[in-house]
Amino acid sequence: MKYPFLRLSEVNAIYAHEMKQAACRIIDSGWYLNGEENRLFEKELAESCESQYAVALSNGLDALRLLFRAYIEMGKLKQGDEIIVQANTYIASILAITDNGLTPILVEPDEDTFNIDSSKIEKAITPATKGILIVHLYGTPCWNENIKEVITRHNLLVIEDNAQAIGAMADTQGINNSRMTGSIGHAAAFSFYPTKNIGALGDAGAITTSDHQLSQTVRALANYGSDKRYHNIYTGYNCRMDELQAAFLRIKLRHIEEENIHRRKIANIYDQHIDNPLIKKPAIIDGTGQVWHQYILRCDSRDRFREYLEANGIGSDIHYATPPHLQPCYMGRLGGPYPVTEALANTVVSIPIAAIDERDACQIATIINGYK
Ligand SMILES: *Cc1c(COP(=O)(O)O)cnc(C)c1O
Repeated sequence: MKYPFLRLSEVNAIYAHEMKQAACRIIDSGWYLNGEENRLFEKELAESCESQYAVALSNGLDALRLLFRAYIEMGKLKQGDEIIVQANTYIASILAITDNGLTPILVEPDEDTFNIDSSKIEKAITPATKGILIVHLYGTPCWNENIKEVITRHNLLVIEDNAQAIGAMADTQGINNSRMTGSIGHAAAFSFYPTKNIGALGDAGAITTSDHQLSQTVRALANYGSDKRYHNIYTGYNCRMDELQAAFLRIKLRHIEEENIHRRKIANIYDQHIDNPLIKKPAIIDGTGQVWHQYILRCDSRDRFREYLEANGIGSDIHYATPPHLQPCYMGRLGGPYPVTEALANTVVSIPIAAIDERDACQIATIINGYK
């Protein structure tokens, strides 16, 4: 395959030398958890997204789960409360809600942004609605004046699923005046799964917040529920990040800006060069710092289009083929039908965006234009 969808070894090649040095340092140090790398990574992550506190964790799903659990422990949420979330998100967003005995209320996305349709939020709100999980899907900030207005009027807790949008910036200020994803709402969850814009060499995640009590509660929950050694105030979990992963992530976090600029450059090339009536391109949203975790095309004859891409050496993927409400584990329990979500699931195609250069992008666009 000339243009594989994503080759992680290539993504990491430019950092490999530094990572190997970091790995040697940590192996020799004899300190593998809860150490200096975690502490520094947390500080650097919080700074990079204009938040006050960060807690390094095991993965993105745990980060989301622990945020909801912490709000329950703090008395800000209780079992049965409703959380609004977009219906076309990755299933982990929904798992984190139901795992805590909260009720996800699915809202359709906007076909152009792929994020929650702000005009449909208000209708979904009931007296039991206490929060909203905004998902910055595919790297596009899920925030605008309309969302902000409804959320503020209903006094909802705003939790960000920032697994796909580290480094992105909305064009509207968040509830604490920041426009950076990760500090738009009351708290945010990050994933550093290897394919994300900043990926670890294994699993890793984090939360950020400017609420000190929340950060402390998550930190305790992630460490068996203990606030100090051998003293457990919650029935917690073990959701810590390895020192090795924290060290790798610190190296990559220093280059997040360049990585995102490069993704934007590739997205712009696709936007300028792809011109085929059978293919719909994603919207480039004015004034927002989209970070293009995925570049999503739509095509009614998707299967045939993907075969054509493959025959021409281009890897592709689908994010996501089956929405959460149609997964066997949730069948019939998340409401529906959700026609916009289902139409997206049947037509979206992701093309390479990471670790390709500008010439590759032009060639991929030319091949796509030849699809009939
Ligand atoms: C990747 C992802 C998650 C889960 O993160 P993991 O680190 O894989 O657990 C959650 N939400 C979204 C939107 C994601 O893309």
